[in-house]
Amino acid sequence: MPVFNEDESIDIFLDAVEPYLDGAGLRFEIVFVNDGSRDNTLAHLLDRSARDPRVKVVNLSRNFGKEAALTAGIDHAKGDILIPMDIDLQDPPDLFKPFIERWREGYDIVYGVRSARDADTMAKRVSAGWFYWAFNSMSPVRIPANVGDFRLVDRRAVEVLRRLPERNRFMKGLFAWVGFNAVGVPYERPARAAGASKFNLWRLWNFALDGVVSFSTVPLRVSFYSGVVIAVVAVVYALFILGRVLLFGIDTPGYASLLVVVLSMGAIQLVSIGIIGEYLGRLFLEVKGRPIYVVEGVYEKGEAGAPAP
Ligand code: UDP
Ligand code: MG
Repeated sequence: MPVFNEDESIDIFLDAVEPYLDGAGLRFEIVFVNDGSRDNTLAHLLDRSARDPRVKVVNLSRNFGKEAALTAGIDHAKGDILIPMDIDLQDPPDLFKPFIERWREGYDIVYGVRSARDADTMAKRVSAGWFYWAFNSMSPVRIPANVGDFRLVDRRAVEVLRRLPERNRFMKGLFAWVGFNAVGVPYERPARAAGASKFNLWRLWNFALDGVVSFSTVPLRVSFYSGVVIAVVAVVYALFILGRVLLFGIDTPGYASLLVVVLSMGAIQLVSIGIIGEYLGRLFLEVKGRPIYVVEGVYEKGEAGAPAP
């Protein structure tokens, strides 16, 4: 569980999830990744971990964002299967049972599909719809619509995931990239149990951009093709003007058409440079090769341990 300023959700979460896992008769650990919370989250987690040896806390040195925190959790979890989930109970523990059933049938990845998104705002639902459409029409790796990070992942898929070196962690995409046998289980996504969402529309937009740019080079090609189309139109228009001048003599007015051409060309060039910039910026971040996250400490039984290699 990646957690960022979730003090009020910790008890609600553990009290809901632990009985489920106990009832399932499984050996389990609950790994929290504290993503640089600025409230009482860390102290609260350490307190719960001191009282329950199955609760492990990975404390990051600052806020690295949900995707990085999730990566840290995946690196530090030890089980044969792994279930990344949010702490706000929007990923209901009732799904553990069907997840594990499908896993026993031989599936490596069992993901939850949000059948009703009533808990989300209209803007979020509409933008999510556009995103899945845009992503899947551009990316060679398809991601199923309305699927979050809530899923069961088998150890062999986890190991593949851990070997992916990229810094830009668009986890949904990476889960899909790994492949193996995957199947969805529908569920209704409830509203947050406590606290407020950490994602506003601007953060979601950036998240979507990260996703598309790290999985598809189609936007780069779009600027190339629009260049070709405009070049063809320009040649046709040039021939037309030339023909008109030759046949009917010189006709000076042309301020409006000139301005339209200059402005639209300028806009297209800037957009194209912007698209290249999106890729270049990410390339820059990847090339520097900085770690995805920095661990301040790993705590078990409320005490410090060693971080995962
Ligand atoms: N989260 C995080 N780091 C961040 C933002 C969010 O670890 O910078 C965690 C958060 O604590 C929660 C999960 O990511 O456990 C999902 O966040 P949230 O519920 O706010 O997202 P939503 O469900 O609204 O998409
Ligand atoms: Mg949530």
